[in-house]
Amino acid sequence: MLEPSFRDPFRISRRVATLGVVAAAAFLTACGGDGSSNAGATATLAVLETTDLHFNVRSYDYFKLAEDKTYGFERTATLVRAARKEFANTLLVDNGDTIQGTALADYEATISPIPCTQQLSMYKAMGALGFDAGTLGNHEFNYGLPFLNQVLGGGLDVEGVDASKKCAGAGYPMALANVYSSKTQKPLVQPYMLLERSLIAKGTDGKEVKLPIKVGVIGFTTPGIMNWDKRYLEGKVYTEGAVEAASKYVPELRAKGADIVVALLHGGLDSSAYSPTMENPGLYLSKVAGIDAMVMGHQHSVFPDTAAKPAYSQAGVDNNAGTINGVPAVMASSWGKALGVIQLSLQWDGTKWAVNKAASKSELRNIQSKNAAGTTVYVDPDATVAPLIETQHQAAIQYVKTPIGQTDFRMSTLFADVGDPGAIQIVNQAQQTYVAAYIQASLPQYAQLPVLSVSAPFKSGFQGGSDYTDVAVGPLAINNAADLYLYPNTVYAVKVNGADIKNWLEAAAQRFNQIDPAKTTEQALISTFPGYNFDMFTTADVQYEIDVTQARGSRIKNLMYLGKAIDPAQEFVIATNNYRATSGRSFSDKLDGSGTIWASPDANRDVVIDYIRKNPAVTRAANGAAKSWRFASVSVAGPVVFSSGANALAVAQAAGLNNVSLVAADDGSGKGTSKYAVDLSK
Ligand code: MG
Ligand code: MN
Repeated sequence: MLEPSFRDPFRISRRVATLGVVAAAAFLTACGGDGSSNAGATATLAVLETTDLHFNVRSYDYFKLAEDKTYGFERTATLVRAARKEFANTLLVDNGDTIQGTALADYEATISPIPCTQQLSMYKAMGALGFDAGTLGNHEFNYGLPFLNQVLGGGLDVEGVDASKKCAGAGYPMALANVYSSKTQKPLVQPYMLLERSLIAKGTDGKEVKLPIKVGVIGFTTPGIMNWDKRYLEGKVYTEGAVEAASKYVPELRAKGADIVVALLHGGLDSSAYSPTMENPGLYLSKVAGIDAMVMGHQHSVFPDTAAKPAYSQAGVDNNAGTINGVPAVMASSWGKALGVIQLSLQWDGTKWAVNKAASKSELRNIQSKNAAGTTVYVDPDATVAPLIETQHQAAIQYVKTPIGQTDFRMSTLFADVGDPGAIQIVNQAQQTYVAAYIQASLPQYAQLPVLSVSAPFKSGFQGGSDYTDVAVGPLAINNAADLYLYPNTVYAVKVNGADIKNWLEAAAQRFNQIDPAKTTEQALISTFPGYNFDMFTTADVQYEIDVTQARGSRIKNLMYLGKAIDPAQEFVIATNNYRATSGRSFSDKLDGSGTIWASPDANRDVVIDYIRKNPAVTRAANGAAKSWRFASVSVAGPVVFSSGANALAVAQAAGLNNVSLVAADDGSGKGTSKYAVDLSK
């Protein structure tokens, strides 16, 4: 009568819950009013996780203006539907960083703000699946509290926000236990929720039986929001550590009758000592009594991971069992690339459920896999998702094609390996400007230090002759920023000294093979060291030579700052990206995260876009001619050669590289590249 189907009892019983008293009576009748007769019944509840979707509804790259099947909620949705067919009982949760991350997100937040009556496209798409609960990530705060209030439907009682405003909302309830309104001293949104549902269970007689369950859901975000979105949050909200918040609220949830408690942690795992501002406290949260399952995120990584070198291997992490300190857990990558599945094994004692953690298990289901023939295959998109957002999707595409400036030169990395800064300098200018402004405004203790920037030719031919940054003369649109900055990194600022800079450049100079000046036969200049690691300055303030005849580690010569030999002890702030700042230990011991003075929340790509908006007339003279480095002059007996895009010598000449010549139009690699020579004596 109330249940149209047995497929999805959780969503059916959501209807039951809203029908209130009548439904409860019907439920008791169905159970015979005597649950204890079913003592010993068992059930599996599959907790399904999406995390860090970052507004990737479609498998679509708004910068490249092309489909990209490697991500997208429209494909994760297919995995959700399959899991709902497979498991009688499912709980679908989202772990935050949901409303920011694509051009469509920016379009709906700032370019053509979505009206109060309309759901964000991301939430609209998620509504096609019906989420049970969610939490907020750090990026939910990126557009400010009034916008967050609107897209969540209203109710945020915090300074500067009209809490009475009622809007369309997310379509599912949010829990967040560790962010408080300064105005009310109460949690900004409800800290937890108790979902009353019914489970399809197996009785001791082997027959199917429906039994009630109360699922407690509690959420936590990373306290870093107070730094990353300081301008929106300072004085308005404050945070608490995940462990402190859990220790307070999990017992409350239990006291209110929660059979099980699922923690949604917008954070991951870090083995350093616990602190209340810790970004990734999962190892510690898992030890709080009363948490039965933990879904994680924020690090855009994966757990469990059965690869030879798993993403996480700290003490307490069990990648085979899928547990953290014995608690079943998942982290489902990012952008909808995977669905996290925790199968919770439940036992009914006649009045309540308990989790058998040892019999529970967790796994990731990826949208991308290899078939028997070894070919990469992708899960098909769920056909219901794309049509829901088609109008907004097309509007976002028009938005990214909008010119924001223009360039008077071809900005390319075709000859970045031999000295053309043409596609790198603007990235460095944008990063330097952004970090310097932030330090002046918010980090006065570093305001006296010079701010410099490094970047690299991210696209430098690895995939062949078209794998180069190559922006034509003429209008610059938002989507060109993807060509200028390939990766979805965020800007980080690190404090280093002159000696660290030398080490950093020595590491970057591994881009080159060691050249023997006496050798008369051809020598290849470029090593297998990736182009994206060839960090370089592009400013008159920093000058250095790279001597490729020397061994690795001894190649940087005449390193000067403002015309004088750099002082090894002088301190600098360097703008770079999160990747280099946190996993660049082979470049400098300060690049393991310890030298980071600011982990900005903004993508390098967005910073480049913003820079072009403010400096729309891009010229070779101002944005593509500042060479910080050159090869140390050396006569080599034979040719020194390298490959680059086909027949592009004019690009080298336009960059003033008169020591480059074309050797062969086809270098024989089959990758669409020509062979060039560089004369290192010039
Ligand atoms: Mg995050
Ligand atoms: Mn994220």
